[in-house]
Amino acid sequence: MRVIGIAGWTLALAAVISSPAARSESGLDSTPPAIDYVADGRAPLAQLERRFAELDARHGWVVETLHAYPDAPDLQIKAWRTPATGPALWVLAGIHGEEPAGPNALARELETLVEFARSGVPVVIVPLCNPRAYRHNWRYPNTAERDWKEGGYSVGDAEYLLPDLEKGRAPRAERAPGPETYALTQFVLRLADRYPPRLVLDLHEDELSTEGGYIYSQGRHADANPVGAEIVRLLQSSGIPLRRSGVTRFGEPIVDGVISRDDQGKPIRDGSIDELLASTDVFVANRRVRGPSADTVIVVETPAFAGARLDQRVNAHAAVVREIATLWRLNESQRRSSSQ
Ligand SMILES: [Zn+2]
Repeated sequence: MRVIGIAGWTLALAAVISSPAARSESGLDSTPPAIDYVADGRAPLAQLERRFAELDARHGWVVETLHAYPDAPDLQIKAWRTPATGPALWVLAGIHGEEPAGPNALARELETLVEFARSGVPVVIVPLCNPRAYRHNWRYPNTAERDWKEGGYSVGDAEYLLPDLEKGRAPRAERAPGPETYALTQFVLRLADRYPPRLVLDLHEDELSTEGGYIYSQGRHADANPVGAEIVRLLQSSGIPLRRSGVTRFGEPIVDGVISRDDQGKPIRDGSIDELLASTDVFVANRRVRGPSADTVIVVETPAFAGARLDQRVNAHAAVVREIATLWRLNESQRRSSSQ
């Protein structure tokens, strides 16, 4: 979720060197060297893409290519949506390439989302927002370096559309930092009219949190949100450790596994695509207009254990997605009771 990055990719590099593909270069087996990083057990990019393509090929969803890489024709950021429009569930995953659990869990739980859509709820999904970084186990799309101060940009950076933090009279940044970022954020703005986000899930991991996972809650009902409470319960019953209290390394207080305030006690305003989806005001062509205004935006952060225990992390995300109908109902009833 954080636009801020982290340093230290040496662990990942060590994992690549010990991977079967690397061994094959020394002649120990005949497997050709793979370009995909799969040492942590993640599905290769092409396998995920084939799975997600079932949404249009088998289930009649609308597919849209948001961004194609000119130098790598097989790399594309794709979004799927139901033909039915209206207040929608939005699901994002894979914003950071070194956080594979979310996209892998969505591949596993695809039928759950298809079933849920059949119940009549419009759905928008971008299951792999950063395919280039996923393929290389990078964090950012443009560099292997994970320290954002070293030139990496997040595909989920929405600051050029969001009001500045002081007076809110101008956008927080002049422009999108990269083409993927621009494509994703423009897609959100464009689709938010026909598929207004009611409930948003953005699946992340926290490589530096070995103590446990947690979630961020944004939107109209950021504090004490029953959807957030249920997601915390689901994560906990999946067996991953959770941080129920204390503060994050950014000083944000964790309350019952949920972060809904920054270190100053203000709403979370991290400049991310999650903030964009929750934002009631955005800047388009230097004019302040109504934003996507989602009721509930939940960012799930599973502890990545320095790249280990991927099964457990995938199980945790899958446990959340599997209960999407319950989460949607909780959000709708919260909406009804708050409008009475
Ligand atoms: Zn992340």
